[in-house]
Amino acid sequence: MTNIVGIDLGTTFSAISRVEEAGKPKIVPNKDGKNITPSVVEFLDDGSVLVGDEAKKSIGYNDENIVQEVKRSMGEDVTYERFGTTHTPITISSMILKKLKQDFEAVYGEITSVVVTVPANFSNDAREATKKAAELAGLKLEHTINEPTAAALAYALQSESNLNGKYAIYDLGGGTFDCTIATIKDKNIDVETSEGVNKLGGKDFDEKITEIVSSKYKEATGQDLDPKEFTPNDAEDIKISLSSKDSAKARVAGQVLDVTREEFEAATSTLITKAEMSVEAALRNVGIDASGIEDVILVGGSTRMPMVVESLKKMFGKEPKLFGNPDESVALGASIYAAHNTNSEDLNPLQRQQMQNFSLTEAAPFYFGTIYYNTDEGKTRVRNIINKDEKIPCEFTENFVTRHDNQTAVDCSVTQAGADLDDPDMVQIIWDGTLDLEGGYPAGQPIQITYGYKEDGTMTCRFKDVTSGAEKNIDLTIGSDGGKPLEDEFDPDAFQVD
Ligand code: ADP
Ligand code: MG
Repeated sequence: MTNIVGIDLGTTFSAISRVEEAGKPKIVPNKDGKNITPSVVEFLDDGSVLVGDEAKKSIGYNDENIVQEVKRSMGEDVTYERFGTTHTPITISSMILKKLKQDFEAVYGEITSVVVTVPANFSNDAREATKKAAELAGLKLEHTINEPTAAALAYALQSESNLNGKYAIYDLGGGTFDCTIATIKDKNIDVETSEGVNKLGGKDFDEKITEIVSSKYKEATGQDLDPKEFTPNDAEDIKISLSSKDSAKARVAGQVLDVTREEFEAATSTLITKAEMSVEAALRNVGIDASGIEDVILVGGSTRMPMVVESLKKMFGKEPKLFGNPDESVALGASIYAAHNTNSEDLNPLQRQQMQNFSLTEAAPFYFGTIYYNTDEGKTRVRNIINKDEKIPCEFTENFVTRHDNQTAVDCSVTQAGADLDDPDMVQIIWDGTLDLEGGYPAGQPIQITYGYKEDGTMTCRFKDVTSGAEKNIDLTIGSDGGKPLEDEFDPDAFQVD
């Protein structure tokens, strides 16, 4: 049996989908029967590891042994010490993936091909880190797909009507917010732009609930709320109740406190405004206003909040579209993409038919440039080589010259920024190094810089001394200039994941 699957490795929840024999994608529940699995890992003192619902239940009680939200640190140099072992975002992610894999394989047998999703604005390092996590989990990951693109794919394949126009994908999950605009014509998806807020999601709304409850508790008792009496999970439960009811009861240390939706919405209106500002930025990038959007597609569990729907109705003048469960569409789309990438001989005729006639084009998520000396201004500046939203794959070359006679090296750098900036202090330097020159030449010797961005979201950079033909080629991959990554010493089998 072929098991073509897609995995949404989320900040707060993850999900796995399989393309069924009839060619349609379907979420596969975990062994507790849940369609989504919390991305929470708990280490126990007997050396075992809990992943998912059970680990999430310990939040607020066993926090020092819990690791969560590691997705925010993917590709960064972050470590977590638990019971004498050092973990990284990669090893923790591998445990989450292993749990999904185990629960899946207990029912269907071995996974034959898999795609894991990543946020559109994930850096090269974060993408590589995701691949490494999959490898440690024993998954043969050939492709990743950007989350909004996966959601658009699920929408395009499931939509009953003929799609034609620009669509906005509004993804408000547990930890992050993203808005993507894509042109969709039937099953052809062309991503135009993505904007987002890195730290805006359900967690921020939960915190506001905790603030409301704390102040009510103080008012009622004169005392401070003990965090163990009202955990982040309790706050989340209240928040979820308020999506379907006008008020909910918080039970805290013998007190019953009413929280109304009105109070909640007033306390979180600035969060919604932040998301609205991102949507406006995305529209500006594409050069259209809200009326140019055919439909808004809801993705992410937090879009179940009525205030999200209200905000979008106000901005776009129409109801946003909800198809299925908003926290499942990314995984569904990922499995469709996995099937799309599978050899067609490995698909049955029904699957093959479903996968026909669709295409995808992604857009570059950032401006990528280099730092050079601008003689006119007498200072260093950034020149962008790949612009944000450039259709990918793409490759661009810019020409520079040496500054001094008999120059023996040039500093090379790769910069990344969300906006078109020329101040080196405002951009992030994602790589730097030097290109050695032969020397003996006058100033003005040509240096050619070529950046390429591939379909899988990774980038290559080439710095070339045109005179001698010497090149510095950089594949921006993890650990390329650091020491031995910690993950190389990690033994996935030493951690029994449940
Ligand atoms: P991720 O960001 O990890 O991909 P999801 O898309 O699954 O996560 O969204 C998870 C968030 O959605 C959590 O903060 C959760 O509390 C929130 N959520 C789920 N259902 C509801 C609901 N009915 N009302 C409000 N928030 C919800
Ligand atoms: Mg998500």
